[in-house]
Amino acid sequence: MAQGHITPFLALAGLLSSRHPNLAVTLVNTPYNIQTLTKSRAGAAIPSSIRLRSLPFSPEEHGLPPTADNTAELPFFQIVTLFEASKSLRSAFEQIISDISEQDGRPPRYIVSDIFLTWTIDTARRFGSFHSIFVTGSAYGTVVFSSMWKHLPHRRADCGDLFPLPDFPDVLIHRSQIPKHQLLADDASPWTVFFREQISRFSETDALLINTVEEVERTGLQMMRQMLPCSIWPIGPLLSSVFPSISSGGGEQIIQWLDSQPPASVLYISFGSQNTITASQMMELATGLEASGVRFVWVIRPPVGSDVKSEFKAEWLPEKFEERMQEQGRSLLVHGWAPQMEILSHPATGAFLSHCGWNSVLESLNRGVPMLAWPLTADQFFNANMLEKELGVCVEVGRGNMENSMADRVAVERMVKEVMCGGEIGGEMRRRVEEVRELMKAAWMEGLGSSLRAKDRALVLSLAVAPLHSADAA
Ligand code: UDP
Repeated sequence: MAQGHITPFLALAGLLSSRHPNLAVTLVNTPYNIQTLTKSRAGAAIPSSIRLRSLPFSPEEHGLPPTADNTAELPFFQIVTLFEASKSLRSAFEQIISDISEQDGRPPRYIVSDIFLTWTIDTARRFGSFHSIFVTGSAYGTVVFSSMWKHLPHRRADCGDLFPLPDFPDVLIHRSQIPKHQLLADDASPWTVFFREQISRFSETDALLINTVEEVERTGLQMMRQMLPCSIWPIGPLLSSVFPSISSGGGEQIIQWLDSQPPASVLYISFGSQNTITASQMMELATGLEASGVRFVWVIRPPVGSDVKSEFKAEWLPEKFEERMQEQGRSLLVHGWAPQMEILSHPATGAFLSHCGWNSVLESLNRGVPMLAWPLTADQFFNANMLEKELGVCVEVGRGNMENSMADRVAVERMVKEVMCGGEIGGEMRRRVEEVRELMKAAWMEGLGSSLRAKDRALVLSLAVAPLHSADAA
């Protein structure tokens, strides 16, 4: 699991153990993820009632580098090999389930798995447990992206630049919204085979949980229910703030700096935990930002094609850019990890320029912060579409990080000023984001909230269905 998947799983574990202290919750993951979690401040905040279990995983057996279970450092083309390799974890996973069964006197009532680990359905059936896939993305993004894998190839010349999605003809896809690995794929490509297998197994899970809110994602959920033959229960937003220190990474200086800025005056910029933009895009973004005169905090990483761990080179930015920003005290460049949740919660933060990874989106909406979108890959393009066209809380300012990507300093300057300096579009986005924030709050209202009720329904059903599955298993 990448960070964007671990965070909501951890939030789900935290929520269940705090609301249902009689439930024993176990979180199973790869050695790298468990180790990182245990050593982190987030790990220190995990209550002892949540058991952490590590799966023995040998990447070398699958022709992967020894550190392959750190997905942030794995070359993209090998990620599908890692996903395939995860199937070999089944016997180790079942050993953990057996140990838990022995310890607790019965098998787990409920197994919740990541979207890419549908083989866990077989384990659930073997042990008579209720099973859910927990989708950590948005409904709209997940359903459009899944549908794109069904209808390949997209490189056919007759597709044109803009074409309707066969499953949903009202949805128009632009060629620049197709990630390279999908654009090049055909029916036999490893990515296609893997994704199609996962999608085809959705019908076997007992209920699909999703980190979204019924009232916020009506269209996406409707499309998802139309395409997938299973129960779909939105239980979001599940955020990193369930463990208050989860996103903290020693960012006290950033928060102190924000303390000294006027309200809603700072633009926060981040492309998530794994992605970055190209060197030329970095130049366009920096130039546009400087020309806008707006204050900003930019979490900046080496551009596409360079080692993620390498030292940041000044030549990737306009001449003396960082020095100028420092001298003016107007902006901060963060080389590394930023405490995103704290930044979005800070009154000085006025908008978020984001790649539209779903966790970032939920965090921003939950804190009432409007967005400038710069989607880079996968479902992010469609999240951005939905946020702009349906919710009206975002405006797209750039797209992609490959040869056909878009980035233009003039557009950056214009849109940043529009959103941050009292423009009409910006004002409307602020109004709409407050409405969405209220809907999100209401989803967890005691007794009435849709997400709270969906979570309770899942637990009650697991209680009713697990004994039936157990009888079948026996
Ligand atoms: N994040 C953070 N600090 C950073 C970058 C990312 O705390 O400097 C967190 C962010 O708050 C979010 C997660 O990492 O919870 C990124 O998940 P998302 O789904 O937005 O994007 P991904 O990284 O999966 O592309």
